[in-house]
Amino acid sequence: MFGEMQDWPLRVTSIIDHAAKFHGDRPVIGRSIEGPIVRSNWREIHAKARKCAQALNRWGIGRGDAVGVMAWNTPRHLEVWWGVAGAGAIMHTLNPRLFADQLEYIINHAEDRVLFVDLDLVGVLEPLVPRLRTVERYVIMTDRAHMPQTTLPDPICYEDLMAEQDGDFAWVMGDETDPCGLCYTSGTTGNPKGVLYSHRSNVLHAMASVSPDVVGLSSTEVVMPVVPLFHANGWGLAYTTPMVGASVVMPGRDMTPPALYELLEMDVTLTAAVPTVWLGLLQHMRAKGLKLSTLKRVVIGGSSCPRAVIETFQKDYGVQVIHAWGMTETSPLGTVCTFKPEVAALDDEARLDVQTSVGHPPFTVDIKITDDAGAELPWDGRTQGKLFVRGPGVVKRYHKADKLAVDEEGWFDTGDMATIDPHGYVRITDRSKDVIKSGGEWISSIELENAAVAHPEVAEAAAIGVKHPRWDERPILVIVPVAGKAPSKESILELVARSFAKWQVPDDVVFVDEIPHTATGKISKLQLRRQLEEMGYA
Ligand code: ADP
Repeated sequence: MFGEMQDWPLRVTSIIDHAAKFHGDRPVIGRSIEGPIVRSNWREIHAKARKCAQALNRWGIGRGDAVGVMAWNTPRHLEVWWGVAGAGAIMHTLNPRLFADQLEYIINHAEDRVLFVDLDLVGVLEPLVPRLRTVERYVIMTDRAHMPQTTLPDPICYEDLMAEQDGDFAWVMGDETDPCGLCYTSGTTGNPKGVLYSHRSNVLHAMASVSPDVVGLSSTEVVMPVVPLFHANGWGLAYTTPMVGASVVMPGRDMTPPALYELLEMDVTLTAAVPTVWLGLLQHMRAKGLKLSTLKRVVIGGSSCPRAVIETFQKDYGVQVIHAWGMTETSPLGTVCTFKPEVAALDDEARLDVQTSVGHPPFTVDIKITDDAGAELPWDGRTQGKLFVRGPGVVKRYHKADKLAVDEEGWFDTGDMATIDPHGYVRITDRSKDVIKSGGEWISSIELENAAVAHPEVAEAAAIGVKHPRWDERPILVIVPVAGKAPSKESILELVARSFAKWQVPDDVVFVDEIPHTATGKISKLQLRRQLEEMGYA
């Protein structure tokens, strides 16, 4: 026996249809790659997406075909995003900051048949072309007037292509379990691994994300996704904003603090990005004495958000921080630090402490922590274990992998270490490979780093375990000072010592001009460790 309700497949195209029909006039604004601010709305994005889907369909691109897109966050990127989904194909987002070898690998591995590329990123693709085995067409996302000189074979001008379509096209339909998005993890070791999202997983993830105890989005919101659409499924923002009919401001390619500040002042109420972006913006605003007139909330995740950032946003600017944890493999939202009643009742300082945790999972995400043997550990807020997740938005198998990525109960090993408190709030203490083990005890590199960046003259900090004959490993801190400042080792260690036991305080502080980052802007501990070895530390 079946229920007698309608069989309405959970396909993402229903989201953009809904936005065009019920929130059609809502502005979608952005800084274009050509320079000027451009203005669109959900109805126009929908109309252009139809043309884009029609063009792809005429080229024989449909269900199961991958389309690579290397682009910054712009309204045009959203047209392509929805066009690819509407053609029934797979939107494969490409991170232009990946190494050339990695880009070549993922384009070939995904078997991208068409590549869309932003005007300023043409040069990233050009040298790869001779090694790309499956790409049939290259579309440059600009108009005729801006078409560049290029060695891309038979480059197609996006706006010309759109002008050739009449837009009289119905979305290609299929099952809700069809693939619709593909995002590779940066792969700090080995080749990147592809996570192939389905229509269903993206719809369910978006529905969970917009609910009040998660990101809590509505049509009254003006959202600026600073996190690139190519990073971890764009944190779902390309789906959630049209789902609720929110307005969108796209920052384009200029992510410098002055450029971001200018756009935030275009009525933005909610924004989202990794902590380093906000460290830069806060420094800029402090130096220039700037205020934020409309921003109410900022979603911060991707790596641990230092307490100082949360405190400054909330106390100095009246902007609430929503600290979140997630992975490409979890669509990506896994846990979000919103306030259950027992947290809302706390005083400001205690609530701030809770906000340095990554919060609790929404419906559709299940979590547990275990010891190395797989036995579940208690939720006491102290016991640290391996964090596992499962749910309809969690990967089951990496793209084209032989083996499943989960155990027989569907649990996926996140590679993160965490504690969970009695209210279900998760605290990420480390990535398991970054944990510092000293004398048989663990020291959290994340907590050391967050303590060090609270120093007013520290711009960025990384804690690394270096080999030690007696203690196995000992922590050292690598510090990038704020421009023009020269903090002393003692002042940094003194600050750290205030929140750590004596044996946990790092043995040394190394000052560097720059800390290496991965393609998604995280500290690359692998590279940093190599540099330290060269400096004679490991
Ligand atoms: P990539 O490694 O390609 O950047 P992801 O964005 O999927 O891929 O990285 C996910 C990882 O980022 C998580 O497993 C975790 O280690 C880290 N991470 C994400 N959010 C947080 C957070 N709020 N606090 C600490 N670590 C985080």
